[in-house]
Amino acid sequence: MTDRYCVLGNPVAHSRSPAIHAQFAAQCGQDMGYEAVLAPLNGFAVTVAQFIAAGGKGANVTVPFKEEAFRLSTRRSARAERAGAVNTLVFGADEIFGDNTDGAGLVRDIEANRGIALAGKRILLLGAGGAARGALAPLLECRPAGLAIANRTADKAAALAAGFADLAAVDAGNYADFAGRTFDVVINATSASLAGAALPLPAGLFAPDSLAYDMMYGKGETPFLALARAQGAARRADGLGMLVEQAAEAFLVWRGVRPDTAPVLAALRAQIAA
Ligand code: NDP
Repeated sequence: MTDRYCVLGNPVAHSRSPAIHAQFAAQCGQDMGYEAVLAPLNGFAVTVAQFIAAGGKGANVTVPFKEEAFRLSTRRSARAERAGAVNTLVFGADEIFGDNTDGAGLVRDIEANRGIALAGKRILLLGAGGAARGALAPLLECRPAGLAIANRTADKAAALAAGFADLAAVDAGNYADFAGRTFDVVINATSASLAGAALPLPAGLFAPDSLAYDMMYGKGETPFLALARAQGAARRADGLGMLVEQAAEAFLVWRGVRPDTAPVLAALRAQIAA
């Protein structure tokens, strides 16, 4: 019988995950189906229970249910515990296992796809929401020279940094606090680009050979990447690679095989550009 998986979200019709996983499954010869399932805003747990009852083996979870998926999980990976959110569920006979592959996807996109080793780099993470939190531990595991968090609301950056103090000393502040500092990798984990807004970044943040990475993606250049280009960031990447890599990591968790992401990412990029 074909194994069933899905992505749960609200909204979810726009999700690229069904197309990504269909390509992974075909490439790896896995007998599985993957669909998008719209969960009512007040009915996430019920929707999960229905999917399990219908024979579902696992699910990805997207906005706005990642924290609820965390609470629903009866067992969690260490990286999910650190992230405080779950984007990958595995339905076992007597448990719901929760994992988080977002941070691993980000790191893999930067290191494997872009060829930039994060060890020894000065990293600035912009934003202090769920995406920033999920990225922190995987970034710190790469042993950067330093990691700082800048956020519109400085208190949230400070609280996030404090929560990871056992792993490393993490600087925190608002954007203006980082005037005069320079970074090798600047990652936008805010949702400002969604609203088409540019961040009020002080000039001089980007080292000449730096990477500007926007977790957001879409047709054309995001406001953050346009700003980074204007401020001299030599290398710029959007979050499409992170999306495909977090999916590949989830596929590995479910099926025990890591798909080749390059052709899937290329096809998706061509589709979005069209
Ligand atoms: P949250 O709502 O949890 O966090 C939002 C963050 O953005 C906060 O730090 C908030 O600052 C900041 N922010 C929002 N609007 C503005 C603005 N106009 N100016 C400055 N700062 C702003 O969102 P998430 O962390 O879940 O998601 C963040 C982004 O990451 C989204 O764009 C999402 O699409 C992307 N993402 C991409 C993934 C991928 O696979 N490529 C995976 C996961 C997320 P404050 O605290 O001051 O309110």
